Amino acid sequence: MTIPADARIAVVTGASSGIGAATARELTRQGFHVVIGARRTDRLAALADEIGGTALPLDVTDDASVEAFASQIPRADVLVNNAGGAKGLETVLDAELEKWRWMWETNVLGTLRMTRALMPALLASGNGLIVTVTSIAALEIYPGGSGYTSAKHAPGVLHRTLRDELLGQPIRLTEIAPGAVETEFSLVRFDGDDAKAAKVYEGFQPLVAEDVAEVIGFVASRPAHVNLDQVLIKPRAQA
Ligand code: NDP
Repeated sequence: MTIPADARIAVVTGASSGIGAATARELTRQGFHVVIGARRTDRLAALADEIGGTALPLDVTDDASVEAFASQIPRADVLVNNAGGAKGLETVLDAELEKWRWMWETNVLGTLRMTRALMPALLASGNGLIVTVTSIAALEIYPGGSGYTSAKHAPGVLHRTLRDELLGQPIRLTEIAPGAVETEFSLVRFDGDDAKAAKVYEGFQPLVAEDVAEVIGFVASRPAHVNLDQVLIKPRAQA
């Protein structure tokens, strides 16, 4: 579907599954026309049909893809920087550089690329909102997690720095830091190994994608003078 000129527009990256897909549904319920981006375009097309949104192919690790995506969005009220993920669980000494490259390109440079490319469209709305999905991994460390925790700390730093740099501009910035959410995240982390992925959620009830999406919906529905700087959301049973 083409993007309607008179609608409130929300852009969600990484909307082909998990938190991004749930957020696209939530923001649609709130009346936004939602533009969804990811690499798995078959899934995006099905979701766009379901919500009446616009599906555009997007690889946040690719400059040309981000540029082509942004060029189709002249105005945006909300950008949800959600595309991301982890690869592996390795000690610092054993870590594979390829996995670090994947995590840094996707989570860090992907967020930077998208934020810069969409900034003119967000400013054009007169009241833009950037929501960046980081993680409790942006606030903590854990053994074997340095590649992912560092790749999530960095978007948190980007968020806080931009918040200062853009003071006085018609733009708000929110960092959402979820704990464990049961999505395809762990499958991606362990390259499709179901048993390893399921172990992550053993012994406690994780969040579901909708729990996070509803928080993003709450952030997007605040009045223009209210900035929720950071929201940390965990399963009750997670330390
Ligand atoms: P999913 O694996 O279900 O979703 C990840 C999304 O990111 C997919 O839609 C995927 O789409 C997209 N993506 C990955 N790489 C790229 C890329 N290069 N370009 C565009 N899109 C990309 O996991 P979640 O929903 O859980 O993850 C969403 C966000 O939440 C991530 O940033 C993750 O780090 C964060 N998070 C997740 C937690 C969890 O426990 N699940 C906890 C805290 C934070 P496609 O492959 O089609 O491109």
